[in-house]
Amino acid sequence: MTKPQHHEIVVIGAGICGATIANELLERGKAVCIIDTAPSPAAACSSHAYAIAHPHIGKGAPRLLRLTHLAFLLAEARWKNVWRQHGIFQPTKKDKTFDRTATEEHLRSLDLDENIAIAMDAHEAKQFCGIEQSGVWLPRGAGLNLHETSKELLHEQQRLTYMWNTRIARLEELSNQWHLFDASNKLIVTANQVVVACALEAKDLMNSIGIRLPLRPVRGQLSIFTVRKDDPWIKKLPQVGISGDGYCLPAKQLDDGSYQWIVGSSFDEGEDDLSPREMSDDFNREQAKRLVDYEEGNLSSLMKSGEFVGIRCVAGDRLPIIGALAQRPGIFLATALGSRGILWSALAAKLITAQLLEDDFALLARLGFAADLVAALAPARFFAGAAPSALGALASNSKPILPAESSAK
Ligand SMILES: Cc1cc2nc3c(=O)[nH]c(=O)nc-3n(C[C@H](O)[C@H](O)[C@H](O)COP(=O)(O)OP(=O)(O)OC[C@H]3O[C@@H](n4cnc5c(N)ncnc54)[C@H](O)[C@@H]3O)c2cc1C
Repeated sequence: MTKPQHHEIVVIGAGICGATIANELLERGKAVCIIDTAPSPAAACSSHAYAIAHPHIGKGAPRLLRLTHLAFLLAEARWKNVWRQHGIFQPTKKDKTFDRTATEEHLRSLDLDENIAIAMDAHEAKQFCGIEQSGVWLPRGAGLNLHETSKELLHEQQRLTYMWNTRIARLEELSNQWHLFDASNKLIVTANQVVVACALEAKDLMNSIGIRLPLRPVRGQLSIFTVRKDDPWIKKLPQVGISGDGYCLPAKQLDDGSYQWIVGSSFDEGEDDLSPREMSDDFNREQAKRLVDYEEGNLSSLMKSGEFVGIRCVAGDRLPIIGALAQRPGIFLATALGSRGILWSALAAKLITAQLLEDDFALLARLGFAADLVAALAPARFFAGAAPSALGALASNSKPILPAESSAK
């Protein structure tokens, strides 16, 4: 019998999250082995080519807002070469009236200067970004192709070992090393440190070592619409991204003069069925109308030409789970990225690497990782007996909030 490989660091999962963490570790001079069930990177939710990113500016959940700001700056710096900066407009909610002074005060309270977020009335917004609605213009908002980016992060390189077509079914600690087994109980690899970045399947893997994670699937479908060049919709199609109840990318003119417009997405809680659904396209058509404020628009003009369907992994409290698993030394979790794969994977790469390499935490603090933010992301927040600081940090983020957001993103 051949001896299983041993690696200092193994990353389970080659989606955008595992790929970004592996890449950061490689850049820091470490050797990494990455394992995935699929034959190549980004085969699951990160096969998504049309993701967008911007700092969040809503009211409430102050830690979430601070975290998305920090994560946005990290993501922008990390992916500057492939960052499609088209700007993103966030319209005022339909049941609210635009109040410039209050909006500006709110943005400043989040430390978002005019470089990042500008309050605009409908007239200004029409002039700057072609959207005749009041709201906030996020000029640095951008899109990222998660599939291409994950592949590029994991290009062949020294110190990176791949194990494709390999599903890890359970973990076990033996003689101070982690042993990784497949479903037939064959020992696949041993490791000193294991980063678990395999989205929903982190739940089963953690179960195998007696840790229960509150993860659940949320299906989502984005629709790719085509609009004929002579259709009245043309004058409503945006040249920037829009993020509100749902989101859309800038419309793109095709060679024959028609436009391609990507709009999403459905939010089907507890579902993990990847087959495309007509009702999700209908839902997206309705979202499209609201995003560009075109109630009288004829929905049949939005002709379906493709879609992306993915299963998000979501934790009960909307925040991702990122950090060392204090109860099982050597295990690090990076999962529950929900609808914010770009932001949270950039953040996870910095945080997990610092914890795994036991870096100088003053450096993390300089990047903006305050102790309360680190605690709010830590797996420990779900367990009885967690450190008081971790529980304290959770207080404002702990209520389950998914149902209230069920129509968006
Ligand atoms: C419709 C929709 C729209 C979205 N829009 C946006 C957006 O605009 N902006 C944004 O930032 N995010 C968006 N997201 C979210 C984003 O796509 C995800 O957060 C992100 O792709 C999750 O990455 P991941 O690496 O955690 O998971 P995944 O990409 O699912 O990767 C997990 C990997 O682990 C592997 N794996 C699983 N189990 C095992 C195992 N036991 N052993 C070995 N390997 C295993 C899988 O094969 C997979 O490759 C959207 C998602 C959906 C569905």
